[in-house]
Amino acid sequence: MKHEENKENQSALHVQAGVEQPETINKDAVRRFLQKKKRIRRPEELADELMEGNITSLSEAITLVESSLYEHRKKAEIIINRCIPKTGNALRIGFTGVPGVGKSTFIETFGMRFINQGKKIAVLAIDPSSERTGGSILGDKTRMESLSVSQNAFIRPSPSAGSLGGVARKTAESSLLCEAAGFDYIFIETVGVGQSEIAVHSMTDFFLLLMLAGAGDELQGIKRGIMEMADAIVINKADGDNIRKAEIAKQSYINALHLFPPTESKWTPCVLTASAYTSMGMEKIEETLDKYVELTRKNGYFYKKRLRQSKFRMHETVKEQLLNKFYGNDYIQEQLSQYENQIENAKISPYTAAGELLDLFEKLR
Ligand code: GDP
Repeated sequence: MKHEENKENQSALHVQAGVEQPETINKDAVRRFLQKKKRIRRPEELADELMEGNITSLSEAITLVESSLYEHRKKAEIIINRCIPKTGNALRIGFTGVPGVGKSTFIETFGMRFINQGKKIAVLAIDPSSERTGGSILGDKTRMESLSVSQNAFIRPSPSAGSLGGVARKTAESSLLCEAAGFDYIFIETVGVGQSEIAVHSMTDFFLLLMLAGAGDELQGIKRGIMEMADAIVINKADGDNIRKAEIAKQSYINALHLFPPTESKWTPCVLTASAYTSMGMEKIEETLDKYVELTRKNGYFYKKRLRQSKFRMHETVKEQLLNKFYGNDYIQEQLSQYENQIENAKISPYTAAGELLDLFEKLR
């Protein structure tokens, strides 16, 4: 809507007729602003700025990491390579649990403990379903009220586009950039409903599973394999009427964990209760985290796991890029639909079709 008072002749700066009208807007300032805004920085500059702790540059670099454009990916690679020497000092913590278990609220309360100790924390997420749900995870930051306004916290919702492999790669790379930007703790959140836990586990030092009391494991959709990955299980929302139920649940999880084989880390996963509302249990969880880090650093598992994770990421990236190259190729796209037709008409077996398609792809190289 055009406002009357914004018209040139209605401006408060309008002067007497016959006198030259001054500019109502400082065009120079506008030009400088636009130049600054548009100035495309070289990836090296962006990397250096983010390593100085510049959050705007960090966000820009992450946007490049998340982009599917070839030229952006190339820039992202340059940034990551430049930042690598400054990574490795943060502690990476994974959080999982079904939607509604209280992850965001937990991260807010737990994260603020670190902020109050003068630490910097970054909160990232992996949610390959967010394309469908419109970015449920961390999309709604209202449950991280204090964190989202804290100078020392950086919150980035899950990259939404792409396969799980792609989303996981983007989050892992963003995590490295946050480390280079000087964050002490990287929290990576995921929903406990599928393969994404494996991805989070593959990029964190400590994996925390949030559960609710009084709902069977089946109900919570948590598979045994995920429980086995957990370094700590937290029975959440242990407040009010829930306290007793949480204690009972804690006992049954302790019993269940006894049945699991001993861990390679020599760490015994523990079961704790907590409430983000009352902060009950938060101190104990922090102590547990410290103990885990101390033990695994001493026995070398901490470093061994990180190396294993790096190799895993390499393999995952190769797989992701091969798939992208194959399915992103126009000629292959065309051939794929023809082969699909042939399969529909029972003219070819799926194995022969796959073999021929791969041969065609190889010939293209
Ligand atoms: P998420 O989907 O796992 O991220 O869960 P949210 O953090 O969004 O929390 C889901 C609901 O549980 C919200 O209504 C919260 O207010 C509530 N909630 C979260 N933490 C607690 C807690 O410690 N105690 C209680 N009683 N409710 C909680």
